[in-house]
Amino acid sequence: MMDLVQEIQNLKKEKNAVILAHYYQAPEIQDIADYIGDSLALAKISTQLTADIVVFAGVHFMAETTKILVPEKKVLLPDLNAGCSLADSCKAADFEKFTRAHPNHLVISYVNTTAEIKALTDIVCTSGNAVQIVKNIPQDQPIIFGPDRNLGNYVKSILGRENMLVWDGACHVHEEFSLEKILELKKIHPQAKIIAHPECKKPILLVADKIGSTAELLSFITKDENDTFIVVTESGILHQMKKMEPSKHFIPAPPIDSTCGCNDCKYMKLITLQKIYDSLREEKFVIEVEPALAAKARKSIDAMLRISKELGL
Ligand code: 13P
Ligand code: SF4
Repeated sequence: MMDLVQEIQNLKKEKNAVILAHYYQAPEIQDIADYIGDSLALAKISTQLTADIVVFAGVHFMAETTKILVPEKKVLLPDLNAGCSLADSCKAADFEKFTRAHPNHLVISYVNTTAEIKALTDIVCTSGNAVQIVKNIPQDQPIIFGPDRNLGNYVKSILGRENMLVWDGACHVHEEFSLEKILELKKIHPQAKIIAHPECKKPILLVADKIGSTAELLSFITKDENDTFIVVTESGILHQMKKMEPSKHFIPAPPIDSTCGCNDCKYMKLITLQKIYDSLREEKFVIEVEPALAAKARKSIDAMLRISKELGL
């Protein structure tokens, strides 16, 4: 039988390709990636690559963001169905109507959006810098924040920012966590700390000991003295947590309907080793962004990268 991992390594070398992977990917994919990170880190890394081909082990908006940042490179997504329910919850025509209705508002959009939405945006943000980016905007400047209502309302409440209109979108994975089941787990493991992604609903964020992006949660579990954590985000992250802190215990928070007790993003998990191999071998599926659209979208991504740098994020 073919050794897929070895074949992927060979193809990478032959074609001067790299694999970028998000923390929500399956463990075997995280282990072969050249770079692994949260959305912010992956966007930053994209601008520093010397490879000719980038295989994105993640979802469509991530590969598209990389293509916008490095248009000269061939960016491949191993499965074009790897979309995102959050990006889908914000259609460009509707968002444009909304921004036009509020012309004095600065538009801040989460990176989990299409290039069309980014082109309508002033500053992109990720869960790793949303609070700091909004905080950096003068207090009297009205803001439109899209598309994640949970992240938007979290930022709004942290900063006490009333002049912020939040788009009503959400991620199906983070919306499905069950507070009841999390509290049951806490009863069984009273010493455990609850750590949650800001895409979760408010009642969950209210009981969380730590709220942060995937990278921030990883950093937290290494620094915190606690040894047990109830992890309220997509289950792929548990692989890195166990690798970083093998002696600590990580309990996946279950969604409302689940028999397996963990929560997978069906889009992230469409990517497999076999598809990465096929993608590299056949150089498919090529992500393209129309240049005029890419130029508009790039302005808002560049604004995020510039502000993040200035703020030391
Ligand atoms: P971060 O990697 O920015 O935490 O985002 C989580 C996510 O939902 C990506 O799809
Ligand atoms: Fe989109 Fe949610 Fe999947 Fe992230 S976890 S890719 S936000 S659907």
